[in-house]
Amino acid sequence: MIVVLETGTSEKQVEEIIRVLHDHGFDVHRSTGVQHTVLGAIGVHPEFDHRQIELLDGVSEVVRVTEPFKIASRAFKREGSVFDIGGVKIGGPEVIVIAGPCSVETEEQVFTIAKHVKDSGAKILRGGAFKPRTSPYSFQGLGEQGLKLLRAAADENHLKVITEVMDKSQIDLIEKYADILQIGARNMQNYTFLKDLGKSSKPVMLKRGLAATIEEWLMSAEYILSGGNEQVILCERGIRTFETATRNTMDISAIPVIKKKSHLPIIADPSHGVGIRDKVIPMARASVAAGADGIMIEVHHDPGRALSDGAQSLYPDQFTQMMKEVRLIAQAINRSIA
Ligand code: PEP
Ligand code: MN
Repeated sequence: MIVVLETGTSEKQVEEIIRVLHDHGFDVHRSTGVQHTVLGAIGVHPEFDHRQIELLDGVSEVVRVTEPFKIASRAFKREGSVFDIGGVKIGGPEVIVIAGPCSVETEEQVFTIAKHVKDSGAKILRGGAFKPRTSPYSFQGLGEQGLKLLRAAADENHLKVITEVMDKSQIDLIEKYADILQIGARNMQNYTFLKDLGKSSKPVMLKRGLAATIEEWLMSAEYILSGGNEQVILCERGIRTFETATRNTMDISAIPVIKKKSHLPIIADPSHGVGIRDKVIPMARASVAAGADGIMIEVHHDPGRALSDGAQSLYPDQFTQMMKEVRLIAQAINRSIA
């Protein structure tokens, strides 16, 4: 942390600030410039609240330089993490496509969509059996029956399965059916739940919270990692901003930011990121171009009748077209898509 002092700060004040920093366990390096005195406070104290220094007399500004997350950081692990999920490698040169309906609705629905996305190159089937709906009166998912259908449709088409877990009580059940546990945006800061996920042996895909900064998101990943589960995949799914033209604002820049700060793989979810079908493909292209390790796309064979998120679900033919386009983009940056 760098502590910039106000001009004209007395020697007594400077000494007092240094004393407080020492009390908190920091080593202090002092640099006296023509205009400002600057203190370099050295030491790793992730829990330290820098406002305690900002409030001291004579302090003009405090700039934090070390990241509060550790295991998730690039400094901790320089090579990008690659997770091998039954032969599907997330974080390697191949950009992995996850596709499927928002919710599992019927046997016919999930089998039809699974076959189509597989034929077009998807590797992982998505579909919610437990749905975090804004309204308690909206479709809440089929529960275990939905998990069974999702698994069967995936197995028939040689796909892996990702599905959302909403709370601790569902972990054991969903682990039986899924290859990856999806943690929804609304649960990103449910810290007791994140600790429970730290004990799971399954990879976890952690979605970014609706109003979470990248640092908060990485701190949430840190909860799972520090609990002992090393397989955390991040998912950018759009954030809430003042813009109302799209459902959320797809933060494409989060992709290169995460790549620099962390070794964890990152998946982009343009379906929730923009929430409108005709804008999903452009954002999928942009996500691959920006360096995402995968994209997750909602697809429905009859979106007009979908029980959730029909308006952002691609028609099967659109998905096939999107795959052709993102394949070319992947090649341009020395990656590939099946
Ligand atoms: C979903 O993937 O269907 C979903 C509910 O996503 P999010 O948690 O990002 O809203
Ligand atoms: Mn959805």
